[in-house]
Amino acid sequence: MGKYIGSSCRLCRREGEKLFLKGTRCSTYRCAFDRRSYAPGEGAKARRVKLSNYGLQLREKQKVKRIYGLFEKQFRSYFAKATRKKGITGSILLQFLERRIDNVIFQAGYCTSRRQARQLVGHGYVYVNDRKVNIPSFLVKDNDEVAVRFTTKGQQNVKDNIELTKDRSVPGWLEVDKAHFKAKVVRLPQREDIGFPVNEQLIVELYSR
Ligand code: SF4
Repeated sequence: MGKYIGSSCRLCRREGEKLFLKGTRCSTYRCAFDRRSYAPGEGAKARRVKLSNYGLQLREKQKVKRIYGLFEKQFRSYFAKATRKKGITGSILLQFLERRIDNVIFQAGYCTSRRQARQLVGHGYVYVNDRKVNIPSFLVKDNDEVAVRFTTKGQQNVKDNIELTKDRSVPGWLEVDKAHFKAKVVRLPQREDIGFPVNEQLIVELYSR
């Protein structure tokens, strides 16, 4: 699966809001959105237009997709899975996204951004129930125990990340033991656990067109 290697700040500017894609580093970085809060590209500053209903739906979907660092195909497959489950499709979609192992590592505070967490998983430092998991899209379940295991150098990096993320709150569905670099899924994430403003109904409407 490919990955986006362009500028994170460009994506915030495209969506017209801060998505905090650099994670904790956003507060120490000269935020590009603060300096240029219009879409990237030539003439975009002058071209600001009122969005149609479709435009609003599209932007909401793009925003969520970018927050979790996914491509369209992956995002759509989560939506397809969500429609097959009983319940409110939008909430189930968000639950799937939250349950990704890269998101769990980020939310637990072992990485400063989801992008960094994805790397940590990909490099084989993450274990679920004592089994190595190196696929960022792996979905955790209720009662799963997640651990980060590493070399001495890696340990220092994760310790630095824990320090950098110490003021960030951990969602209630995770119980984190930072002293032992572990986290436990105490329940599945619910709609109220989503830590950023999102109107998931717009995404459902977009894909139901
Ligand atoms: Fe977005 Fe600002 Fe963070 Fe860049 S620094 S990723 S523009 S919030």
